[in-house]
Amino acid sequence: MKALQYRAIGAAPEVVTVPDPEPGPGQVLLKVTAAGVCHSDIAVMSWPADQFPYDLPLTLGHEGVGTVAAMGAGVTGVQEGDAVAVYGPWGCGTCAKCAEGKENYCLRAADLGIHPPGLGTPGAMAEYLLVDDARHLVPLDGLDPVAAVPLTDAGLTPYHAIKRSLPKLTPGATAVVIGTGGLGHVAIQLLRALTPARVIALDVSEDKLRLARQVGAHETVLSDAAAADAVRELTGGTGAQAVFDFVGAEPTVATAGAVAAVEADVTLVGIGGGALPVGFGRQAFEVSVSAPYWGSRGELIEVLALARSGAVSVHTETFSLDEAPEAYERLHHGRINGRAVIVPNG
Ligand code: NAD
Ligand code: ZN
Ligand code: ZN
Repeated sequence: MKALQYRAIGAAPEVVTVPDPEPGPGQVLLKVTAAGVCHSDIAVMSWPADQFPYDLPLTLGHEGVGTVAAMGAGVTGVQEGDAVAVYGPWGCGTCAKCAEGKENYCLRAADLGIHPPGLGTPGAMAEYLLVDDARHLVPLDGLDPVAAVPLTDAGLTPYHAIKRSLPKLTPGATAVVIGTGGLGHVAIQLLRALTPARVIALDVSEDKLRLARQVGAHETVLSDAAAADAVRELTGGTGAQAVFDFVGAEPTVATAGAVAAVEADVTLVGIGGGALPVGFGRQAFEVSVSAPYWGSRGELIEVLALARSGAVSVHTETFSLDEAPEAYERLHHGRINGRAVIVPNG
């Protein structure tokens, strides 16, 4: 089959032919109907050899949706032809965190060498994807594969972040979204669907800010050195009760800290290497800062349910598997609005 692989440190990913995977005991083989292109892959492909944690070559794609094509011995709970989304942050399935459905925080995954598809295990940017256990599969139940696939990360990750802050997003509150790309433009919709808060979106690109307004941001602000003052002004000096940074770089985490109101939550989702020093007098009183990773299985089920209700619709641009390197190139240069989705069997 064809697969998009990152093959050598620093090189662009390429489409290659690899052996067709066959499901072993307990495994499910999916024919991939859609795979999402995440900015995290670009970060992964920028890591130097001495910091690269996975084996190469690596088939990319940690957002995957497909139809069940075959099952290994002992698989129950799914049937051939089922349309399913893949919960990506695989864990051991049995530790205390996994028991809560929080496989993203599995206590044993690292020790057991368990990796998400596309982030250590062969990913969804291929004609077929092997899934290690049927519990990682959530029925699409009518959702379109291309529209649904970004929900497995670009939807799930902001959903998890926002859910934590729901008690603070009361009527009259403000939420700030920094970086309105793949994750951010879904975050705006989740905030509008789940809270009465006013949403202020920040980005460096006018195109992205236009999309932010289109999907529900009340206000947009260009993300520069004056952005924090602009947000303060828009909130009558109070600041925002919740700030979600989908860039996570030095200048954006500084903005995130500066716009946080008393008792605000600041959630750093982007992996841009920035850090926010927390200490008395450094930010408003009792601000909480957190850097979460992905979301739980239960939350994925909730995000898909929300999409089925029509409350969330991901802005997608589709590419064939052969065009996948171009999709990464365009994302790298900020030229994807919304989420790029690869359709490997199109
Ligand atoms: P994306 O490229 O689609 O979106 C990033 C957006 O940020 C773009 O619109 C870009 O214009 C904007 N931006 C860049 N610099 C900015 C600045 N200084 N101020 C404001 N906006 C700026 O990327 P994505 O796929 O949505 O991923 C967003 C980030 O989240 C990445 O760092 C990614 O690695 C990370 N991520 C983290 C998790 C997690 O679990 N913590 C999960 C998925 C993605
Ligand atoms: Zn991702
Ligand atoms: Zn576990």
